[in-house]
Amino acid sequence: AKKAGRGRILAFHHGLEDEINERRFIEQELRHALADGVLSVFYQPIVAGDGLRMVGAEALVRWKHPVRGNIPPSVFVAVAEQAGLMIELGEFVLRRALADARDWPELFIAINLSPIQVRDRGLVRTVAGALGDSGIEPSRVVLEITEGVLIDNPEEAKQRLKELRGLGVKIALDDFGSGYSSLSYLRRLPIDKLKIDKEFVSPLGRSANGGVILQAIVALGRALGLSVLAEGVETEEQRLLLRLAGCDEMQGYLFARPMPASAFLDVTRRGIVL
Ligand code: C2E
Ligand code: CA
Ligand code: CA
Ligand code: CA
Repeated sequence: AKKAGRGRILAFHHGLEDEINERRFIEQELRHALADGVLSVFYQPIVAGDGLRMVGAEALVRWKHPVRGNIPPSVFVAVAEQAGLMIELGEFVLRRALADARDWPELFIAINLSPIQVRDRGLVRTVAGALGDSGIEPSRVVLEITEGVLIDNPEEAKQRLKELRGLGVKIALDDFGSGYSSLSYLRRLPIDKLKIDKEFVSPLGRSANGGVILQAIVALGRALGLSVLAEGVETEEQRLLLRLAGCDEMQGYLFARPMPASAFLDVTRRGIVL
């Protein structure tokens, strides 16, 4: 038993060390990637509730490492947050997305903000500067935040979001329903849009009451005067049920996957996604 115990501890230490080395590696490589401008931004179409008309796109950062290949944002965004690189990464995505969106008039552009960015005192000035430089109409810009912005200093976060809205941009609460006290956040945050997490969309059509919670969330959002977007829509059945529930907008592989700016531009010229 003793041996097994020690083995486990050794294995644990080993795993931990690997993890730390891996994080250090990603961090170093990410510093170079940011400096060398090798990160890119992909765009995923967002369609109206009827599922036929494209109304906007979400910007999603991408990193193709020369040796490792594609490193998912779920990995390197977290490293950026821990390593003090998130402000720089966030501004890169913001500026690139606004510049690309100039080529597709009338569509909105949704950009993810890390809680670290929302906590940053310089955020409002950064966004104002990027808007000014791009010439994009602020009403075309949606900034996606998560419940995480409330962890440290909820009052400061609320104030910052109000100032952002003062610039004319809209605020969406991303991943809604995946956290803990989502319902109380809804009242407290100055937001315009609710993005329902994939977690509530994927059971649609699979289990008999899979749609009950989703219908309630859509109704709640609408009752609060928010626009409601469902993400992770993968099947025709889900699209139909979401439409019946009264969802305003949808996003998911059923319509299109995230794609490079050039491919997205082609889609906007063709107009229709499906
Ligand atoms: P998110 O903001 O919830 O973005 C949606 C994710 O779902 C994207 O993953 C997208 O590719 C994926 N997705 C879209 N449609 C479907 C579908 O039908 N089925 C499934 N299974 N997945 C779908 P991605 O691009 O890997 O990004 C993962 C997360 O990384 C994002 O989740 C976001 O939290 C973060 N992220 C990505 N880009 C940025 C960025 O520029 N800034 C910040 N702060 N975070 C980012
Ligand atoms: Ca998002
Ligand atoms: Ca999301
Ligand atoms: Ca998510």
